[in-house]
Amino acid sequence: MTNEHLLFETGTNTSEKLIVIGGMHGNEHSGVEAMQRVIGHLKHKDNSVKGKVYFILGNLEALRRNERFIDIDLNRIWSEKFLNNGNSPYDIKELKEIHRLIEDICQGRYDNCTLLDLHTFSAESGIFCIPAENEKSEALAQYYGVPFIEKLASALPETALNYYGEKGMRSVVFEGGRHNTVEATDNLERAIWITLQYLNFIDRKDFPFIDRMKKELEEISRPFPHRLEMVYHHRLKDWHHYKMNEGYYNFKKIREGEDVARQNDRIVRSPYGGFMLMPLYQKKGSDGFFIVQERKTSKN
Ligand SMILES: [Zn+2]
Repeated sequence: MTNEHLLFETGTNTSEKLIVIGGMHGNEHSGVEAMQRVIGHLKHKDNSVKGKVYFILGNLEALRRNERFIDIDLNRIWSEKFLNNGNSPYDIKELKEIHRLIEDICQGRYDNCTLLDLHTFSAESGIFCIPAENEKSEALAQYYGVPFIEKLASALPETALNYYGEKGMRSVVFEGGRHNTVEATDNLERAIWITLQYLNFIDRKDFPFIDRMKKELEEISRPFPHRLEMVYHHRLKDWHHYKMNEGYYNFKKIREGEDVARQNDRIVRSPYGGFMLMPLYQKKGSDGFFIVQERKTSKN
């Protein structure tokens, strides 16, 4: 398989496949570094991986420029509308390339594929993951031991997460930490190893450090609720006139009516109490912030 986006592939030929994507946003290098670390280990252990693993680079030019995207957010255009778009801005060309690669990998079957999409954020702290809205994605998300947010995937409709989740693929976004920090790279590396273990692609005794990594993720997440759901999405049409107030981070408690940001010189108040998620502290982005609440009751 030749494609500029395919960083590395390994494993024995079985029907089970794991697709890891890093750098879907070009200002997020930790995902790429985490993939390179894991590749460094797996390179020499080709036969010990029981399953096929593909490491994919996201937005190549945006990574080179260290920009979130060039013309349009690559992780907000995963839909037939953009895939069939004729007059292509750069990022749509990237979309089509990555899509073609994943289609080549999946060969029309999505039920035996898992997608792990690695991201980082601009806020100070609070790692988490987002499952696609199907049971097997939620089961994987729960396994990492970090907070996971239900009902968020569908609020991000044109993401790879939602696109492949709707096709029945087990799909999870892992948000590893603040952009381009050692901690974020460490956490995303842990997420890759734990996913390999979850899928039974690798043997515990060949990689004894994975149990320790899982404990480390659980330890980092201890102050925060484990299972949450999204109750509010502050969507932006124009990010140039939006500024979060200082001091917010993922899972910071917020009150209903709290003054959280300025938009076109007006105060933005939180319509609900709960926890802050993904407050926007970077130049580009269409999501101002999300509010999540702890989910205590079991699913009906
Ligand atoms: Zn991202």
